Amino acid sequence: INSKLPTVGTTIFSVMSKLAQEHNAINLSQGFPDYPADPKLIKLVADAMKNGHNQYAPMPGLMSLRELIAEKTANFYQANYDPDTEITITAGGTQAIFTALAAVINPGDEVIIFEPAYDCYSPTVKLFGGLVKPFELHAPDYKIDWEMVKKLFTANTKMIILNSPQNPTGSILSKADIEALIKLTKNTDVMILSDEVYEHLVFDGEQHQSVALYPELRERSFVVASFGKLLHTTGWKLGYCLAPAKLMNEFRKVHQFNVFSVNTPMQVAIGNYLKSENVYTELPQFFQQKRDFFRKLLNETRFKLLPCKGAYFQCVSFAEISEEKDTDMAIRLIKDFGVASVPVSAFYTKGTDNKVLRFCFAKEQDTLEKAVERLIKI
Ligand code: PMP
Ligand code: GLN
Repeated sequence: INSKLPTVGTTIFSVMSKLAQEHNAINLSQGFPDYPADPKLIKLVADAMKNGHNQYAPMPGLMSLRELIAEKTANFYQANYDPDTEITITAGGTQAIFTALAAVINPGDEVIIFEPAYDCYSPTVKLFGGLVKPFELHAPDYKIDWEMVKKLFTANTKMIILNSPQNPTGSILSKADIEALIKLTKNTDVMILSDEVYEHLVFDGEQHQSVALYPELRERSFVVASFGKLLHTTGWKLGYCLAPAKLMNEFRKVHQFNVFSVNTPMQVAIGNYLKSENVYTELPQFFQQKRDFFRKLLNETRFKLLPCKGAYFQCVSFAEISEEKDTDMAIRLIKDFGVASVPVSAFYTKGTDNKVLRFCFAKEQDTLEKAVERLIKI
């Protein structure tokens, strides 16, 4: 086969989770909760099925759910997205990202990606003939130097991919970052794909800087969200995309032939749940508690904690413990200590190794405690 993605292997998440399983290690590698979803939400899914919501949803998703998303987006970001033409429910954030890229990336288009980056962006850009222009950020704070980003711009720059709160680093974009981005892309047609799946996991009273807050960016942006993160249900694979009508129109041309529409009873259930529960305000507190708890425990180890301002990942440096490669360290932690993490070099095109590991703290208190009992031994 003449592979379309010759350098792509199996995702790091599958690799690490499989290794964790084989060695019976505590799995803090792949990002997913190990505690149950709210039984009320599960009952609403069963009810939706019993009530006959078992056939195709409309292509862009259930209107009642799109209306709730429009309302929420107006409340949080003072942005009016028309549920009829500017919101589409997808099979998770991943499909939203894939579909947006498929809809607009042409061969030769350049896409700027900040690294370490979530792993699905780059292969998807390449699949449609796009050229990835990685911009490396580094530990400990992964700050963006926008003057340097400017140097990557060419006549072929089609898009910048943003991800705040960021996976894997837990960093967030500040208002100053967004202002620099606005200045940089003013009077250009450069599009933004803003992966905001962790929008409600922002800590210490900081405000999430959605591109939807900024009209200058909104008109050129796809915004991606995930119910997997919002409702602790990563296995449900539901999310959505927001975009101005002219972009959403292109998005839907692909969406209709990619999946047509997505899971009906879960859309019904999520809509009913969002109407009755206060999920948005509870989520940051819930995860901030987990972050604080986990950081306090990790302070007793020899790992050095990096800042964590958002998302559910805590990165640590092991530079003072060992000189080995981060991939070797991650494997040794699984085999010899029984804890799985993700080596952050996996998120750089060049495999840049800053001696940093990523741990997911969307776990029961007990899981985090047991993991750190083992990590203390290193
Ligand atoms: N973007 C980022 C940054 C993520 O961490 C994830 C989930 N791992 C996704 C997108 C994909 O979201 P979903 O699981 O809803 O497809
Ligand atoms: N988003 C999760 C992570 O970063 C897992 C995604 C996946 O397994 N594809 O760990």
